[in-house]
Amino acid sequence: MKFVSTRGKSPAVSAAEAILNGIAPDGGLYTPAEIPQFSQVEIQQMLKLNYLELAEVILARFLTDYPLTDLRQMINAAYASPEKFATPEVAPVSKLRHKQYLLELFHGPTCAFKDVALQLLPYLLTKAQVLTNDEREIVILVATSGDTGKAALEGFKDVPGTKIIVFFPQEGVSQIQRMQMLTQAGNNTFVVSVKGNFDDAQNGVKRIFVDPQMQQALAEHKQAFSSANSINWGRLVPQIVYYFFGYLELCRKGELTFGDPLNVVVPTGNFGNILAAYFAREMGLPLAKLICASNSNNVLTDFIRDGHYNRNRPFYTTVSPSMDILISSNLERLLFYITGANTNLVSQWMEELKDQGEYQLDQTSFAKIKEVFYGGFTTEDRTLAAINQVKHECNMVIDTHTAVGQGVYEQYYQATKDETPMLLASTASPFKFNATVVKALAGTAGIANKDEFELLDTLAELSGTAIPQALKGLNEQPIKHHRVCAPEEMGAVVQEILRNN
Ligand SMILES: *Cc1c(COP(=O)(O)O)cnc(C)c1O
Repeated sequence: MKFVSTRGKSPAVSAAEAILNGIAPDGGLYTPAEIPQFSQVEIQQMLKLNYLELAEVILARFLTDYPLTDLRQMINAAYASPEKFATPEVAPVSKLRHKQYLLELFHGPTCAFKDVALQLLPYLLTKAQVLTNDEREIVILVATSGDTGKAALEGFKDVPGTKIIVFFPQEGVSQIQRMQMLTQAGNNTFVVSVKGNFDDAQNGVKRIFVDPQMQQALAEHKQAFSSANSINWGRLVPQIVYYFFGYLELCRKGELTFGDPLNVVVPTGNFGNILAAYFAREMGLPLAKLICASNSNNVLTDFIRDGHYNRNRPFYTTVSPSMDILISSNLERLLFYITGANTNLVSQWMEELKDQGEYQLDQTSFAKIKEVFYGGFTTEDRTLAAINQVKHECNMVIDTHTAVGQGVYEQYYQATKDETPMLLASTASPFKFNATVVKALAGTAGIANKDEFELLDTLAELSGTAIPQALKGLNEQPIKHHRVCAPEEMGAVVQEILRNN
Protein backbone atom coordinates (compact mmCIF):
# COMPACT_ATOMS: atom_id res chain seq x y z
CA MET A 1 0.00 0.00 0.00
CA LYS A 2 1.45 3.32 -1.09
CA PHE A 3 0.55 6.69 0.34
CA VAL A 4 0.51 9.69 -1.98
CA SER A 5 0.13 13.40 -1.39
CA THR A 6 -3.25 14.95 -2.20
CA ARG A 7 -1.31 17.71 -4.00
CA GLY A 8 0.67 15.30 -6.16
CA LYS A 9 4.10 16.91 -5.88
CA SER A 10 5.77 14.66 -3.32
CA PRO A 11 6.96 11.08 -3.87
CA ALA A 12 4.76 8.20 -2.74
CA VAL A 13 5.75 6.72 0.64
CA SER A 14 5.01 3.70 2.85
CA ALA A 15 2.45 3.86 5.68
CA ALA A 16 5.27 4.14 8.23
CA GLU A 17 6.73 7.13 6.39
CA ALA A 18 3.33 8.76 6.01
CA ILE A 19 2.67 8.44 9.73
CA LEU A 20 6.15 9.63 10.69
CA ASN A 21 6.06 12.66 8.38
CA GLY A 22 2.50 13.71 9.21
CA ILE A 23 2.15 16.19 6.36
CA ALA A 24 3.63 15.77 2.85
CA PRO A 25 6.51 18.08 1.79
CA ASP A 26 4.29 19.71 -0.88
CA GLY A 27 1.80 20.76 1.81
CA GLY A 28 -0.71 18.02 0.93
CA LEU A 29 -2.00 15.20 3.08
CA TYR A 30 -0.79 11.63 2.71
CA THR A 31 -3.61 9.36 1.70
CA PRO A 32 -3.84 5.78 0.35
CA ALA A 33 -3.27 5.77 -3.41
CA GLU A 34 -6.24 3.43 -3.61
CA ILE A 35 -8.87 2.53 -1.05
CA PRO A 36 -8.75 -1.22 -0.34
CA GLN A 37 -11.94 -3.21 -0.81
CA PHE A 38 -13.55 -6.07 1.08
CA SER A 39 -16.05 -8.39 -0.58
CA GLN A 40 -19.45 -8.80 1.11
CA VAL A 41 -18.44 -12.33 2.06
CA GLU A 42 -15.30 -11.04 3.72
CA ILE A 43 -17.29 -8.46 5.66
CA GLN A 44 -19.87 -11.02 6.69
CA GLN A 45 -17.08 -13.17 8.10
CA MET A 46 -16.11 -10.25 10.32
CA LEU A 47 -19.28 -10.91 12.33
CA LYS A 48 -17.17 -13.42 14.27
CA LEU A 49 -14.54 -10.88 15.29
CA ASN A 50 -14.31 -8.84 18.45
CA TYR A 51 -13.17 -5.21 18.31
CA LEU A 52 -9.47 -6.06 18.62
CA GLU A 53 -9.55 -8.73 15.93
CA LEU A 54 -11.55 -6.48 13.64
CA ALA A 55 -9.05 -3.65 14.10
CA GLU A 56 -6.26 -6.00 13.08
CA VAL A 57 -8.01 -7.08 9.88
CA ILE A 58 -8.79 -3.51 8.84
CA LEU A 59 -5.49 -1.92 9.82
CA ALA A 60 -3.58 -4.67 8.02
CA ARG A 61 -5.12 -3.54 4.73
CA PHE A 62 -3.64 -0.07 5.09
CA LEU A 63 -0.47 -0.60 7.11
CA THR A 64 1.02 -3.26 4.87
CA ASP A 65 4.57 -2.49 6.00
CA TYR A 66 3.75 -3.19 9.67
CA PRO A 67 4.24 -6.87 10.61
CA LEU A 68 0.94 -8.45 11.65
CA THR A 69 2.22 -9.60 15.04
CA ASP A 70 3.28 -6.02 15.80
CA LEU A 71 -0.11 -4.68 14.78
CA ARG A 72 -1.78 -7.15 17.09
CA GLN A 73 0.46 -6.11 19.98
CA MET A 74 -0.17 -2.41 19.37
CA ILE A 75 -3.93 -2.85 19.17
CA ASN A 76 -3.87 -4.78 22.43
CA ALA A 77 -1.77 -2.15 24.15
CA ALA A 78 -4.10 0.62 22.96
CA TYR A 79 -7.50 -0.90 23.65
CA ALA A 80 -7.44 -4.06 25.70
CA SER A 81 -7.24 -2.91 29.30
CA PRO A 82 -10.03 -1.43 31.45
CA GLU A 83 -7.75 1.49 32.38
CA LYS A 84 -7.82 2.43 28.72
CA PHE A 85 -11.34 1.61 27.60
CA ALA A 86 -14.04 1.15 30.18
CA THR A 87 -15.76 -1.49 28.03
CA PRO A 88 -14.27 -4.44 26.10
CA GLU A 89 -16.41 -3.51 23.08
CA VAL A 90 -14.40 -0.24 22.89
CA ALA A 91 -17.21 1.39 20.89
CA PRO A 92 -20.49 -0.13 22.15
CA VAL A 93 -23.76 0.43 20.33
CA SER A 94 -26.92 1.41 22.19
CA LYS A 95 -30.47 1.86 21.03
CA LEU A 96 -32.03 5.31 21.08
CA ARG A 97 -35.39 4.20 19.70
CA HIS A 98 -36.81 2.26 16.74
CA LYS A 99 -34.15 2.22 13.97
CA GLN A 100 -31.97 4.81 15.73
CA TYR A 101 -28.74 3.87 17.46
CA LEU A 102 -25.78 5.47 19.19
CA LEU A 103 -22.19 4.47 18.52
CA GLU A 104 -20.63 5.30 21.88
CA LEU A 105 -17.15 6.54 21.16
CA PHE A 106 -16.50 8.08 24.57
CA HIS A 107 -15.43 5.18 26.78
CA GLY A 108 -11.72 5.97 26.54
CA PRO A 109 -9.54 7.58 29.20
CA THR A 110 -10.58 11.17 28.39
CA CYS A 111 -14.26 10.48 27.62
CA ALA A 112 -14.19 11.66 23.98
CA PHE A 113 -13.85 9.90 20.63
CA LYS A 114 -10.35 11.22 19.96
CA ASP A 115 -9.10 8.58 22.42
CA VAL A 116 -9.79 5.81 19.90
CA ALA A 117 -7.17 7.24 17.56
CA LEU A 118 -4.82 8.80 20.10
CA GLN A 119 -4.46 5.61 22.12
CA LEU A 120 -3.08 3.85 19.06
CA LEU A 121 -1.12 6.65 17.38
CA PRO A 122 1.89 6.57 19.76
CA TYR A 123 2.48 2.91 18.92
CA LEU A 124 2.03 3.50 15.20
CA LEU A 125 4.56 6.34 15.40
CA THR A 126 7.21 4.57 17.44
CA LYS A 127 6.89 1.44 15.30
CA ALA A 128 7.18 3.61 12.18
CA GLN A 129 10.55 4.75 13.50
CA VAL A 130 11.73 1.21 13.96
CA LEU A 131 10.57 0.32 10.44
CA THR A 132 12.43 3.26 8.93
CA ASN A 133 15.57 2.88 11.09
CA ASP A 134 15.05 6.23 12.74
CA GLU A 135 16.58 6.16 16.22
CA ARG A 136 15.59 9.62 17.38
CA GLU A 137 13.37 10.24 20.36
CA ILE A 138 9.98 11.68 19.37
CA VAL A 139 8.98 14.92 21.04
CA ILE A 140 5.28 15.62 20.53
CA LEU A 141 4.28 19.28 20.74
CA VAL A 142 0.61 20.15 21.10
CA ALA A 143 -1.27 23.41 21.49
CA THR A 144 -4.74 22.61 22.70
CA SER A 145 -8.03 24.28 23.37
CA GLY A 146 -8.97 21.34 25.55
CA ASP A 147 -9.85 17.91 24.19
CA THR A 148 -6.94 17.03 21.93
CA GLY A 149 -4.25 17.87 24.46
CA LYS A 150 -5.61 15.61 27.16
CA ALA A 151 -6.28 12.76 24.74
CA ALA A 152 -2.74 13.05 23.37
CA LEU A 153 -1.26 13.10 26.90
CA GLU A 154 -3.11 9.92 27.80
CA GLY A 155 -2.04 8.28 24.55
CA PHE A 156 1.67 9.08 24.85
CA LYS A 157 1.91 8.66 28.63
CA ASP A 158 4.88 6.39 29.42
CA VAL A 159 5.27 5.23 25.81
CA PRO A 160 9.01 4.48 25.48
CA GLY A 161 10.94 6.66 23.03
CA THR A 162 8.55 9.60 23.31
CA LYS A 163 8.02 12.80 25.27
CA ILE A 164 4.95 14.97 25.04
CA ILE A 165 4.69 18.69 25.79
CA VAL A 166 1.22 20.26 25.83
CA PHE A 167 0.51 23.99 25.94
CA PHE A 168 -2.95 25.17 26.92
CA PRO A 169 -4.27 28.73 27.18
CA GLN A 170 -4.64 29.86 30.79
CA GLU A 171 -7.97 31.47 29.94
CA GLY A 172 -9.99 29.33 27.60
CA VAL A 173 -10.27 25.76 28.82
CA SER A 174 -12.99 24.49 31.10
CA GLN A 175 -12.37 23.66 34.78
CA ILE A 176 -12.58 19.97 34.03
CA GLN A 177 -10.20 20.21 31.08
CA ARG A 178 -7.70 22.22 33.14
CA MET A 179 -7.71 19.68 35.97
CA GLN A 180 -7.55 16.77 33.53
CA MET A 181 -4.30 18.20 32.19
CA LEU A 182 -2.73 19.51 35.40
CA THR A 183 -3.14 16.13 37.14
CA GLN A 184 -1.73 14.19 34.18
CA ALA A 185 0.38 11.17 35.20
CA GLY A 186 3.35 9.74 33.29
CA ASN A 187 7.12 10.22 33.42
CA ASN A 188 7.30 11.70 29.90
CA THR A 189 4.40 14.17 30.07
CA PHE A 190 4.81 17.95 30.40
CA VAL A 191 1.94 20.40 30.64
CA VAL A 192 2.42 24.16 30.41
CA SER A 193 -0.18 26.84 30.92
CA VAL A 194 0.28 29.82 28.57
CA LYS A 195 -0.66 33.35 29.62
CA GLY A 196 -2.78 34.04 26.57
CA ASN A 197 -5.51 32.58 24.36
CA PHE A 198 -5.55 29.51 22.12
CA ASP A 199 -4.13 31.37 19.12
CA ASP A 200 -1.16 32.54 21.22
CA ALA A 201 -0.44 28.95 22.21
CA GLN A 202 -0.88 27.64 18.68
CA ASN A 203 1.30 30.33 17.11
CA GLY A 204 3.96 29.63 19.74
CA VAL A 205 4.02 25.94 18.82
CA LYS A 206 4.19 26.75 15.09
CA ARG A 207 7.21 29.00 15.73
CA ILE A 208 8.98 26.29 17.71
CA PHE A 209 8.46 23.75 14.91
CA VAL A 210 10.28 25.93 12.35
CA ASP A 211 12.90 27.57 14.60
CA PRO A 212 16.31 26.58 13.12
CA GLN A 213 18.10 26.88 16.48
CA MET A 214 15.60 24.54 18.04
CA GLN A 215 16.01 22.09 15.16
CA GLN A 216 19.75 22.06 15.66
CA ALA A 217 19.47 21.51 19.40
CA LEU A 218 17.11 18.61 18.76
CA ALA A 219 19.38 17.03 16.17
CA GLU A 220 22.30 17.18 18.62
CA HIS A 221 20.24 15.30 21.20
CA LYS A 222 18.89 12.76 18.67
CA GLN A 223 15.37 14.04 19.05
CA ALA A 224 12.72 15.05 16.51
CA PHE A 225 9.51 17.04 16.85
CA SER A 226 6.26 15.52 15.76
CA SER A 227 2.63 16.48 16.08
CA ALA A 228 -0.43 14.48 16.98
CA ASN A 229 -2.95 16.47 14.97
CA SER A 230 -5.81 15.03 13.03
CA ILE A 231 -4.33 15.31 9.54
CA ASN A 232 -1.90 12.49 10.39
CA TRP A 233 -2.91 9.25 8.66
CA GLY A 234 -2.22 7.44 11.93
CA ARG A 235 -5.14 9.29 13.49
CA LEU A 236 -7.54 8.53 10.69
CA VAL A 237 -7.08 4.82 10.17
CA PRO A 238 -8.13 3.69 13.69
CA GLN A 239 -11.45 5.49 13.20
CA ILE A 240 -12.46 3.35 10.23
CA VAL A 241 -12.65 0.33 12.52
CA TYR A 242 -15.55 1.52 14.65
CA TYR A 243 -17.88 2.05 11.70
CA PHE A 244 -17.38 -1.59 10.74
CA PHE A 245 -17.84 -2.56 14.37
CA GLY A 246 -21.04 -0.51 14.70
CA TYR A 247 -22.58 -2.06 11.60
CA LEU A 248 -21.62 -5.61 12.57
CA GLU A 249 -22.81 -5.10 16.13
CA LEU A 250 -26.26 -4.05 14.86
CA CYS A 251 -26.37 -7.26 12.83
CA ARG A 252 -25.31 -9.33 15.85
CA LYS A 253 -28.03 -7.72 17.97
CA GLY A 254 -30.62 -8.56 15.32
CA GLU A 255 -31.37 -4.90 14.60
CA LEU A 256 -30.05 -5.17 11.04
CA THR A 257 -29.89 -8.03 8.56
CA PHE A 258 -26.46 -8.29 7.02
CA GLY A 259 -26.44 -6.35 3.76
CA ASP A 260 -29.11 -3.85 4.84
CA PRO A 261 -28.20 -0.21 4.30
CA LEU A 262 -27.38 1.99 7.30
CA ASN A 263 -27.13 5.78 7.45
CA VAL A 264 -24.45 7.31 9.61
CA VAL A 265 -24.65 10.69 11.35
CA VAL A 266 -21.39 12.34 12.38
CA PRO A 267 -20.93 15.54 14.41
CA THR A 268 -18.19 17.12 12.36
CA GLY A 269 -15.38 19.63 12.81
CA ASN A 270 -12.15 18.86 11.00
CA PHE A 271 -13.87 16.19 8.84
CA GLY A 272 -11.70 13.37 10.20
CA ASN A 273 -14.39 11.26 11.79
CA ILE A 274 -16.81 11.41 8.86
CA LEU A 275 -13.99 10.79 6.39
CA ALA A 276 -13.33 7.52 8.23
CA ALA A 277 -17.00 6.63 7.59
CA TYR A 278 -16.47 7.44 3.90
CA PHE A 279 -13.50 5.06 3.83
CA ALA A 280 -15.59 2.32 5.48
CA ARG A 281 -18.28 2.87 2.84
CA GLU A 282 -15.80 2.77 -0.04
CA MET A 283 -14.28 -0.41 1.40
CA GLY A 284 -17.62 -2.15 0.98
CA LEU A 285 -19.48 -1.63 4.26
CA PRO A 286 -23.21 -1.18 3.38
CA LEU A 287 -23.46 2.44 4.50
CA ALA A 288 -25.97 4.59 2.63
CA LYS A 289 -26.01 8.33 3.44
CA LEU A 290 -23.29 9.98 5.46
CA ILE A 291 -24.93 12.84 7.33
CA CYS A 292 -22.50 15.61 8.15
CA ALA A 293 -23.68 17.60 11.18
CA SER A 294 -22.28 21.05 11.98
CA ASN A 295 -23.02 23.72 14.57
CA SER A 296 -23.40 27.43 13.69
CA ASN A 297 -19.97 27.24 12.06
CA ASN A 298 -21.77 25.74 9.08
CA VAL A 299 -19.20 25.94 6.27
CA LEU A 300 -19.69 22.27 5.48
CA THR A 301 -23.48 22.49 5.34
CA ASP A 302 -23.24 25.10 2.61
CA PHE A 303 -20.50 23.17 0.86
CA ILE A 304 -22.53 19.98 0.69
CA ARG A 305 -25.58 21.93 -0.50
CA ASP A 306 -23.96 23.92 -3.32
CA GLY A 307 -20.34 22.85 -3.76
CA HIS A 308 -19.06 26.24 -2.65
CA TYR A 309 -16.58 26.20 0.24
CA ASN A 310 -16.42 29.63 1.85
CA ARG A 311 -14.65 30.29 5.11
CA ASN A 312 -15.23 34.06 4.88
CA ARG A 313 -17.87 34.24 7.55
CA PRO A 314 -18.09 34.99 11.26
CA PHE A 315 -16.63 32.48 13.67
CA TYR A 316 -18.95 31.41 16.49
CA THR A 317 -18.02 30.06 19.90
CA THR A 318 -20.64 27.40 20.60
CA VAL A 319 -21.65 24.82 23.21
CA SER A 320 -20.06 22.17 20.96
CA PRO A 321 -16.56 23.71 21.03
CA SER A 322 -14.75 20.77 19.42
CA MET A 323 -16.67 21.53 16.21
CA ASP A 324 -15.92 25.26 16.15
CA ILE A 325 -13.86 25.11 12.98
CA LEU A 326 -13.95 27.01 9.68
CA ILE A 327 -11.28 25.04 7.83
CA SER A 328 -11.97 21.31 7.82
CA SER A 329 -8.52 20.03 6.85
CA ASN A 330 -9.47 16.42 6.16
CA LEU A 331 -11.89 17.44 3.43
CA GLU A 332 -8.83 17.63 1.19
CA ARG A 333 -8.60 13.84 1.23
CA LEU A 334 -12.22 13.49 0.13
CA LEU A 335 -11.57 15.87 -2.77
CA PHE A 336 -8.68 13.67 -3.84
CA TYR A 337 -10.94 10.62 -4.20
CA ILE A 338 -14.00 12.23 -5.72
CA THR A 339 -11.90 13.87 -8.44
CA GLY A 340 -10.33 10.52 -9.28
CA ALA A 341 -6.96 11.60 -7.81
CA ASN A 342 -6.86 14.83 -9.81
CA THR A 343 -4.10 16.42 -7.72
CA ASN A 344 -3.91 19.51 -9.95
CA LEU A 345 -7.52 20.30 -9.24
CA VAL A 346 -7.12 19.64 -5.50
CA SER A 347 -4.00 21.84 -5.40
CA GLN A 348 -5.85 24.61 -7.19
CA TRP A 349 -8.79 24.54 -4.76
CA MET A 350 -6.47 24.50 -1.75
CA GLU A 351 -4.54 27.43 -3.20
CA GLU A 352 -7.80 29.35 -3.64
CA LEU A 353 -8.83 28.48 -0.10
CA LYS A 354 -5.55 29.85 1.20
CA ASP A 355 -5.59 33.03 -0.91
CA GLN A 356 -9.29 33.90 -1.13
CA GLY A 357 -10.80 31.76 1.59
CA GLU A 358 -13.12 30.00 -0.86
CA TYR A 359 -13.40 27.67 -3.85
CA GLN A 360 -16.17 26.23 -6.00
CA LEU A 361 -16.40 22.59 -7.08
CA ASP A 362 -17.12 21.67 -10.69
CA GLN A 363 -20.47 19.95 -11.38
CA THR A 364 -19.06 16.43 -11.74
CA SER A 365 -17.19 16.53 -8.43
CA PHE A 366 -20.12 18.14 -6.67
CA ALA A 367 -22.51 15.45 -7.93
CA LYS A 368 -20.30 12.79 -6.36
CA ILE A 369 -20.43 14.52 -2.99
CA LYS A 370 -24.21 14.97 -3.11
CA GLU A 371 -24.68 11.31 -3.88
CA VAL A 372 -23.04 10.25 -0.60
CA PHE A 373 -23.37 13.14 1.83
CA TYR A 374 -26.13 15.17 3.40
CA GLY A 375 -25.17 18.32 5.31
CA GLY A 376 -27.04 20.22 8.00
CA PHE A 377 -26.43 22.36 11.07
CA THR A 378 -28.13 23.24 14.34
CA THR A 379 -28.38 26.55 16.14
CA GLU A 380 -27.51 26.67 19.83
CA ASP A 381 -31.19 26.51 20.82
CA ARG A 382 -31.75 23.43 18.68
CA THR A 383 -28.71 21.73 20.19
CA LEU A 384 -30.07 22.22 23.71
CA ALA A 385 -33.54 21.16 22.59
CA ALA A 386 -32.14 17.95 21.12
CA ILE A 387 -30.54 17.05 24.47
CA ASN A 388 -33.88 17.56 26.17
CA GLN A 389 -35.84 15.69 23.54
CA VAL A 390 -33.58 12.63 23.62
CA LYS A 391 -33.83 12.59 27.42
CA HIS A 392 -37.60 12.70 27.39
CA GLU A 393 -38.26 10.45 24.43
CA CYS A 394 -35.42 7.92 24.77
CA ASN A 395 -34.43 8.33 28.42
CA MET A 396 -30.80 8.87 27.45
CA VAL A 397 -28.53 11.83 28.02
CA ILE A 398 -26.26 12.86 25.15
CA ASP A 399 -23.49 15.45 25.04
CA THR A 400 -23.63 18.73 23.12
CA HIS A 401 -21.72 17.45 20.06
CA THR A 402 -23.85 14.34 19.77
CA ALA A 403 -26.89 16.60 20.15
CA VAL A 404 -25.86 18.54 17.06
CA GLY A 405 -25.88 15.22 15.20
CA GLN A 406 -29.31 14.31 16.56
CA GLY A 407 -30.71 17.74 15.65
CA VAL A 408 -29.44 17.47 12.10
CA TYR A 409 -30.77 13.93 11.78
CA GLU A 410 -34.27 15.21 12.71
CA GLN A 411 -33.99 17.77 9.89
CA TYR A 412 -32.81 15.09 7.49
CA TYR A 413 -35.71 12.83 8.37
CA GLN A 414 -38.26 15.63 8.03
CA ALA A 415 -36.82 16.59 4.65
CA THR A 416 -36.49 13.07 3.19
CA LYS A 417 -38.68 10.69 5.23
CA ASP A 418 -35.84 8.24 4.66
CA GLU A 419 -36.63 5.18 6.81
CA THR A 420 -33.13 3.70 6.59
CA PRO A 421 -31.84 2.88 10.10
CA MET A 422 -29.31 5.33 11.42
CA LEU A 423 -26.22 5.17 13.60
CA LEU A 424 -25.24 8.40 15.35
CA ALA A 425 -21.59 8.80 16.31
CA SER A 426 -21.68 9.87 19.95
CA THR A 427 -18.40 11.72 20.23
CA ALA A 428 -18.22 12.71 23.90
CA SER A 429 -19.59 11.81 27.30
CA PRO A 430 -22.25 14.25 28.52
CA PHE A 431 -20.26 14.52 31.76
CA LYS A 432 -17.50 16.24 29.88
CA PHE A 433 -19.73 19.14 28.87
CA ASN A 434 -21.90 18.97 31.95
CA ALA A 435 -22.69 22.68 32.43
CA THR A 436 -24.50 22.92 29.10
CA VAL A 437 -26.10 19.50 29.44
CA VAL A 438 -27.50 20.29 32.90
CA LYS A 439 -28.69 23.65 31.63
CA ALA A 440 -30.53 21.92 28.78
CA LEU A 441 -32.17 19.46 31.17
CA ALA A 442 -32.86 21.60 34.23
CA GLY A 443 -32.64 25.19 33.05
CA THR A 444 -30.33 27.91 34.31
CA ALA A 445 -31.57 27.25 37.85
CA GLY A 446 -30.01 23.78 37.61
CA ILE A 447 -26.50 25.16 37.24
CA ALA A 448 -26.81 28.15 39.58
CA ASN A 449 -23.78 28.61 41.84
CA LYS A 450 -22.35 25.21 40.99
CA ASP A 451 -18.86 24.57 39.62
CA GLU A 452 -18.24 21.88 37.02
CA PHE A 453 -17.23 19.34 39.66
CA GLU A 454 -20.45 19.76 41.60
CA LEU A 455 -22.32 19.52 38.31
CA LEU A 456 -20.91 16.02 37.78
CA ASP A 457 -23.06 14.89 40.70
CA THR A 458 -26.04 16.88 39.46
CA LEU A 459 -25.78 15.22 36.06
CA ALA A 460 -25.39 11.76 37.58
CA GLU A 461 -28.69 12.33 39.37
CA LEU A 462 -30.46 13.78 36.36
CA SER A 463 -29.29 11.05 34.00
CA GLY A 464 -29.34 8.11 36.37
CA THR A 465 -25.86 7.11 35.12
CA ALA A 466 -22.53 6.94 36.93
CA ILE A 467 -19.83 9.59 36.63
CA PRO A 468 -17.08 8.15 34.38
CA GLN A 469 -14.11 6.92 36.41
CA ALA A 470 -11.80 9.28 34.51
CA LEU A 471 -13.65 12.37 35.75
CA LYS A 472 -14.56 11.23 39.25
CA GLY A 473 -12.67 12.91 42.09
CA LEU A 474 -10.64 14.91 39.58
CA ASN A 475 -10.74 18.05 41.72
CA GLU A 476 -9.16 16.19 44.64
CA GLN A 477 -6.20 14.77 42.77
CA PRO A 478 -2.78 16.37 43.27
CA ILE A 479 -1.63 18.89 40.67
CA LYS A 480 1.51 17.54 39.02
CA HIS A 481 2.31 20.30 36.52
CA HIS A 482 3.21 23.83 37.59
CA ARG A 483 4.85 25.46 34.57
CA VAL A 484 3.34 28.76 33.45
CA CYS A 485 4.81 30.98 30.74
CA ALA A 486 4.15 33.92 28.44
CA PRO A 487 3.64 33.08 24.75
CA GLU A 488 7.12 34.40 23.86
CA GLU A 489 8.70 32.14 26.48
CA MET A 490 7.35 28.88 25.03
CA GLY A 491 10.55 28.10 23.12
CA ALA A 492 12.67 28.58 26.22
CA VAL A 493 10.34 26.31 28.20
CA VAL A 494 10.71 23.54 25.63
CA GLN A 495 14.52 23.90 25.78
CA GLU A 496 14.43 23.73 29.58
CA ILE A 497 12.22 20.63 29.55
CA LEU A 498 14.38 18.82 27.02
CA ARG A 499 17.62 19.78 28.81
CA ASN A 500 16.48 18.58 32.22
CA ASN A 501 14.55 15.43 31.35
C1 LIG B 1 -12.93 16.53 17.62
C2 LIG B 1 -14.35 16.35 17.97
C3 LIG B 1 -15.38 16.39 16.99
C4 LIG B 1 -15.08 16.67 15.54
O1 LIG B 1 -14.44 15.59 14.90
P1 LIG B 1 -13.68 15.80 13.51
O2 LIG B 1 -12.98 14.52 13.26
O3 LIG B 1 -12.71 16.94 13.77
O4 LIG B 1 -14.68 16.15 12.49
C5 LIG B 1 -16.68 16.16 17.39
N1 LIG B 1 -17.00 15.94 18.68
C6 LIG B 1 -16.06 15.91 19.66
C7 LIG B 1 -16.49 15.67 21.06
C8 LIG B 1 -14.71 16.11 19.34
O5 LIG B 1 -13.78 16.07 20.32
